[in-house]
Amino acid sequence: MSQTIPASKPATFDLFKRNRPFLTQEHEMFRSSLRKFLEREAVPNIEKWEEEQYTPREFYQKMGEQGFLCPQVAPEYGGLGLDFGFNMVLAEELSRVGVGGLASMSSSIIVPYLERYGTEEQKKKYLPKCVSGEITTAIGMTEPGIGSDLAGMRTTAVRDGDHYIINGQKTFISNGINAGLFFICVKTDPTATLAHKGISILLVEDGTPGFSCGRKLKKLGQHSTDTAELVFEDARVPVSNLLGEEGKGFYYLMDKLQQERIMIAIGALVVAEEMLKTTMTYVKERHAFGKPISSFQNTQFEMAEMATEISMAQTFVDDLTYRHMNGENVSTQVSMAKWSITEMARRMSVRCLQLHGGYGFMEEYAIARRYRDVAVMPIYGGTTEIMKNIIAKNLGM
Ligand SMILES: Cc1cc2nc3c(=O)[nH]c(=O)nc-3n(C[C@H](O)[C@H](O)[C@H](O)COP(=O)(O)OP(=O)(O)OC[C@H]3O[C@@H](n4cnc5c(N)ncnc54)[C@H](O)[C@@H]3O)c2cc1C
Repeated sequence: MSQTIPASKPATFDLFKRNRPFLTQEHEMFRSSLRKFLEREAVPNIEKWEEEQYTPREFYQKMGEQGFLCPQVAPEYGGLGLDFGFNMVLAEELSRVGVGGLASMSSSIIVPYLERYGTEEQKKKYLPKCVSGEITTAIGMTEPGIGSDLAGMRTTAVRDGDHYIINGQKTFISNGINAGLFFICVKTDPTATLAHKGISILLVEDGTPGFSCGRKLKKLGQHSTDTAELVFEDARVPVSNLLGEEGKGFYYLMDKLQQERIMIAIGALVVAEEMLKTTMTYVKERHAFGKPISSFQNTQFEMAEMATEISMAQTFVDDLTYRHMNGENVSTQVSMAKWSITEMARRMSVRCLQLHGGYGFMEEYAIARRYRDVAVMPIYGGTTEIMKNIIAKNLGM
């Protein structure tokens, strides 16, 4: 007797479904309320903020009021003491809408310096304000003459009694206009024989005499985030504003760069996913030669290749996030993720724009903004070349 075998359904693949056991129901609840908040407070304003080249402080304050900022900060300083998975969700949702990324930078990249190296007094003074959104933070490493070679920085801080006197200039500082608290990398010992040994980090409040914002810089993309120059002309900062120990600043930067770079990789991956999603919809709707663009083999191969790259990157990022959450030193692999995923996103921005034809070049299509925004990702937080230097060095070369 012949048996009828039911025809198996073709297995459709959901690119955006990920197996991430380290994200719990609580993380997903946080995501869902953050997503609703961003749909309401950010999405309708994107165009305006992009044109004004600025995201208003009130937006960050609202994020703080709703409990979305600095989720990791301990309850004694006003936070919720949550794990890194919440920082991941914060970065993902902000990257998904493509605005407000500075909230993630301040919460997950800069504030952790204060939590790790700050004195009790500094933590009590600033952390509750960072959580509530009363202030956001910025970090000043880069100077007009140095970027990749941080040990060569020239901004000095000379001790004068109970104060440091800062002189010098920083540039390309994200959130430079909006921030209330600046983490400024300075040379406290310009004569140190090993250049990186004389570096310290000082906490500088907005409004400190002798400290001013220079130009708000005009950028190719990421228009709604402000990027500015910072100028120090005999700026006086109390010695009590030294972060950690004098001369240890370079080590603190190296220690915290793992988290900064994993955050950038997480953001770049979401941007890549969003570009692919938008393009998938577009190529199904747009017709040429009497057929949808999606029916051409070239389009299908492009989409298949990009989906493959994204899937592989997802697995890598999830593994690194899990290991980072467990306190493992994965700085070599994080450097791999930072360069390869940001470069992948940059390549995809070109491929996805091409599949949009002329419409891709028009501002009303999301891909145009993504194309501009993604260009800087392989540059900030350490360039692709510097990431490869780190990897090669750690391979023993
Ligand atoms: C939008 C934006 C936001 C930023 N936000 C901040 C911020 O908030 N705070 C902050 O401190 N900085 C910030 N930066 C600065 C950023 O981190 C630097 O631009 C970056 O580190 C590169 O430094 P640079 O621009 O001086 O380039 P350079 O160091 O001059 O490098 C130029 C080129 O030379 C290559 N190169 C340099 N050294 C080597 C080497 N040893 N081997 C091979 N190639 C090399 C680089 O990879 C790059 O391709 C931001 C930059 C931008 C554009």
